[in-house]
Amino acid sequence: MGKATGFLEYTHCQNADVPALERIKNYDELHTPLTESDRRKQAARCMDCGVPFCQSNYGCPLRNVIPEWNDLLYRGEFDTAARRLLMTNNFPEFTSRVCPALCEAACVCNLHDKPVTTRDNENFIIEQAYASGLMTAKPPAVRSGKKVAVIGSGPAGLAAADQLNQRGHLVTVFERSDRIGGLLMYGIPNMKLDKSVIDRRVKLMEQEGIIFQTGVNIGKEQNAEEILKAFDAVILACGASQPRDLPAEGREAEGIYFAVDYLTSATKTLLDGGDPADAPVSAKNKRVIIIGGGDTGNDCAATAIRQGAVSVTQLEMMPKPPESRTETNPWPEWPRVLKTDYGQEEAIAVWGEDPRIYETTVKRFIMNENHRLTGAELVKVWFETNPETSKRELHEGKTWTIETDLILIAAGFIGAEQYITDAFGIALNARHVTDTLPESHMTAVPGVFTAGDMHKGQSLVVRAIADGRAAAKETDLYLMGYTNLP
Ligand SMILES: Cc1cc2nc3c(=O)[nH]c(=O)nc-3n(C[C@H](O)[C@H](O)[C@H](O)COP(=O)(O)OP(=O)(O)OC[C@H]3O[C@@H](n4cnc5c(N)ncnc54)[C@H](O)[C@@H]3O)c2cc1C
Repeated sequence: MGKATGFLEYTHCQNADVPALERIKNYDELHTPLTESDRRKQAARCMDCGVPFCQSNYGCPLRNVIPEWNDLLYRGEFDTAARRLLMTNNFPEFTSRVCPALCEAACVCNLHDKPVTTRDNENFIIEQAYASGLMTAKPPAVRSGKKVAVIGSGPAGLAAADQLNQRGHLVTVFERSDRIGGLLMYGIPNMKLDKSVIDRRVKLMEQEGIIFQTGVNIGKEQNAEEILKAFDAVILACGASQPRDLPAEGREAEGIYFAVDYLTSATKTLLDGGDPADAPVSAKNKRVIIIGGGDTGNDCAATAIRQGAVSVTQLEMMPKPPESRTETNPWPEWPRVLKTDYGQEEAIAVWGEDPRIYETTVKRFIMNENHRLTGAELVKVWFETNPETSKRELHEGKTWTIETDLILIAAGFIGAEQYITDAFGIALNARHVTDTLPESHMTAVPGVFTAGDMHKGQSLVVRAIADGRAAAKETDLYLMGYTNLP
């Protein structure tokens, strides 16, 4: 433990956000790093507590050895800190930007004070490693002669590919999109994760011997049988990208889009050198309704504001969460409390009020004679438990109409896309994700594994990386008869 009194001496201080009215002028990342000496003080707040809950089931799914690298950071041993971090996390540059930081919620400091700024500390360590030249390509010394196909280049596929390549297998990553990264690339906006950060990592992975093929839709343009013939093992990491629809009257109106399609169109336009306000789907000069009060809805709000939306309203079916933890949601659990995220903060800064309306959904979409969306009929909703059946039932209350030109559906995801599993002769289970053998990543087809959201359902980047690593370990065991992957 670096500084026994660190948590008493130094107050919690996160990387500052660029002020809301400034940052909405562009799509740049919105955090500004602390100086090296201030960052080291933040690391000194880590108490090296006897039971580091940050690493427990409540904390980091990757089991990052957080107290160790916080200590190394405090001492200024940056290279060793980076090596410790990379032992358990293939891509700290992604998680340190987008992770909700389960570790911080579970931090012991969080019991009576504010947590250690573990996510920002992680970001300093990995960015310092890139800046100092530590992050060079390290191709494996020996090749196994085995070939592995990874289908899907999101964080799960990338983590599996990295692990298996380091083990000496020749890995090809197939991606149907035009860019590598999955939802890291086309999903999470540039403001949270600058896309050059993904390209920087992919370049390293290429130099280490991984082959990336974009624009290849396995199961459609390329036959699954050919893949099975050409490779010794396959990992399906295709995400759970099937969006939940809202099949209300008028759904066919022109002007209603799924959130990821909208976010993809904005990011692709930005990366292709254009202005996202001119993207094929844009909120410019539009009154926008976002259906879904979660993180994806928040990303849509932030993007719409930057594109020049006239107004943004975010509908949430559930009641407004409490301001602080309830008795049934104690530390170290993830706090189910009201969170005002960057997009909502920006809406408040621009229009003076929170864009979220709770216990409300769309009952009917309204269109004109040209089938163009003009409004929506909203309805107040709430859940009550039926005493006879003990089931929670949805009730509807008053209705009212609101004018709108663009509706974005950010109501979550219902599972994996079936054409991919069908192509490999694999079933989807009741949760609409890939069926596997018990306690395994292997499917009923020998040598075909699955990882990430396609295996577990829509989740988090950090969980996708953890699952990709676990799938890689099983794949290695299948190929070699033993494994020394962590
Ligand atoms: C808008 C949005 C914002 C999010 N923000 C955050 C966040 O801030 N923090 C966080 O932790 N999590 C966030 N998440 C969740 C997180 O992005 C996912 O849990 C994670 O990306 C899942 O990783 P994955 O590798 O399993 O799948 P994905 O990232 O979905 O990648 C799957 C890839 O497979 C490709 N693919 C699919 N089928 C085929 C095929 N047949 N052939 C070839 N390629 C194929 C897809 O094109 C895609 O690139 C967000 C999700 C969304 C939708």
